[in-house]
Parts: sequence; C-alpha cells; structure tokens
Amino acid sequence: MVLLVTGKCDTSCFYCPLSSEKKGRSLTFADEAQVDRDEDIINEAKSIGAMGTGITGGDPLKALNRVLRYIRLLKGSFGAEHHVHLYTSTIDRRAFLQLQAAGLDELRIHPRFELWSTPEKIGLEKALKGLEMDVGIEIPAIPGMDGEIEKLIRYADRIGLGFVNLNELEFSETNYQALRKRGMDTGNDSSSSAVGSKEIASKMMHLELRIPIHYCSSAFKDSVQLRNRLKRRARHIARPGDLMTSEGTLLKGMIEGVDADRAAEYLRTNFDVPRRLMHYDAEKGRLEVASWVLHELSPQLPFDSFIVEEYPTADRLEVERERLPRSKRKWK
Ligand code: SF4
Repeated sequence: MVLLVTGKCDTSCFYCPLSSEKKGRSLTFADEAQVDRDEDIINEAKSIGAMGTGITGGDPLKALNRVLRYIRLLKGSFGAEHHVHLYTSTIDRRAFLQLQAAGLDELRIHPRFELWSTPEKIGLEKALKGLEMDVGIEIPAIPGMDGEIEKLIRYADRIGLGFVNLNELEFSETNYQALRKRGMDTGNDSSSSAVGSKEIASKMMHLELRIPIHYCSSAFKDSVQLRNRLKRRARHIARPGDLMTSEGTLLKGMIEGVDADRAAEYLRTNFDVPRRLMHYDAEKGRLEVASWVLHELSPQLPFDSFIVEEYPTADRLEVERERLPRSKRKWK
C-alpha cells in the first residue's frame, strides 16, 4: 500500500512530480483513497491484501506524529512482518530514532539535489550512526546530472548504506515546465519518461561498487506495480457474481432504471437466479447480476441490462459499458 501522509515538503525539487491536488496540502491518501480516519488505512490495506506499506509525501517528516501513529497502527494490526518503509528528504536523527522505535523497517533518503555533488555536507553519517533499520538512498536518475549522482552513490557505498534506488525521471503536469526549461524531453508521445534517464541509471548500475543499485522504470511503476495492486484489491472485494480481468478490473452485469427489488424477484421466480449472484448496489442505485447470467438471459428480459467493466478502486471508475440485447416486452 502506498500511504501518502502529507503533500507538504520544504525541499522544492525542480523535478517534483507531486500533483497539484496534493502538493502543499495536509491530506492523507491510502493508495487513491483519501483518509479521514485511521480505520480507512486498515480497510484499504485489507482490501488489497497489502504485505507492506510505503510511506511517502510530500515529506512524511512534516507530519511526524501522524506517521508514528500510522506505523504503530499498521504493525499492531498486521504484525511485525508487515514491512514499512518511509521516504524523506529531511535529515533528522531524533526523528529517525523515533521512527525506528515505532517499528519502521526501512528508511529511503532523498537528499536535496543541490547536495548530491558534496554528499558529506548532507550530514548522513552523524544522523544515521547506530541505527539498526535498513537505510538507503532513493533519487530520480536526472539527465545531465551523471556526475552528481555518481558522487552521491560512491559516498553511499563508502559510508556503508544498504542500497541505492534510482527511479526513471518522469514528466508530470507539475514539473513539465521546469524539466523543459532544463532541456529535457520525453522520447515519444505515449511515454512520460525523460529521455536519457534510463541510460544514466544503467551507467550507475555498472559502477564497480559493493552497494546494491536498483532501477525502477516508469513503465514498471505504472503498469506492473499498478496492475498487481489492482489485482490484489479486485481479489479481495470481488463478489460471487464478479469476474476479474487480467488487468485487475472487474466485470459486472448490471440492471438500471427499474426497481431493483422487483427486478431481483423477477429473476429469482422466473429464471431461478440464485440470490448470491445478485447484489443491490445502493451507492450506484443499481442491481448487479453475474455477467454470465445476464449475458444468457438478457434477450428474454423486459428491462435494460449491461455489462460494465470498472476499476476495483474507491471511486470505482467505469472504463467500459456494453448494452445487452433485451426483449421488446414492456416492464410493468
Ligand atoms: S523531496 Fe520529494 S516531495 Fe519534496 S519536493 Fe522533492 S520530490 Fe517533491
């Protein structure tokens, strides 16, 4: 689960991809769903079968007390094996010790980019001394900054950090102008990744160092990670009448525009449709019926029925709707 605890951050990276909806705002999101109460976090983690949580922002250390509470909540609800990592650009030994005491497993530090070429000024050695949790560096691979990135990685290796994560730099609505101003571009219309980012990551991964260097491409983040998350969630929330697609969306049969109780009764008495394959969706005001049942019965039914495909997310975004054939008889 991705837990964005606040959109606030003092670092002001020119490449910050955070959306304007979240940037600078004290809002919490568990995956795509806004969090109002602590239970929302637990429910989201359960609904996707989360094995761990990545706490992100903004800068989570801008909401330290909330983060400490969430870590205890997650560990208390799902046990010590629920892995929690946190991303921050703040170097604060006191906060790190508190996070460790609360149960944080891994700290991913994103040092301000102005210090990458003089990493000893970041203050990491002093801040991390004696910490037992895993600590590494996580930064985007920025075209034109090979020298700075290499210095930072060599430093991380020298002081014995656990890993370096390099993310492919992506254009977003909020960083587009800043990246363009620095001469960066996307390779083609369908990709948002910056040209040259992947090559820098590859160059860094060939350095002869002990520290493990991981690379996360935007395609992997967008497609594989997202699809896996959707699938886990779909598996948890699917009802007996829902079908999960290979993309992690749900296919549902659906009847609209008639009284749902009467339509359900009609299907039961005339066609023996079992109750467990029907569900009244109060939020959307419609009767859901297993798609394979509606496919077979719709030509005999005196009301409109559809097959809809929707995301298993909080907003249940509908991505496709197919109208099924119906009988010409009138529904009375
Ligand atoms: S540290 Fe992260 S959230 Fe803060 S400005 Fe930089 S990229 Fe954005």
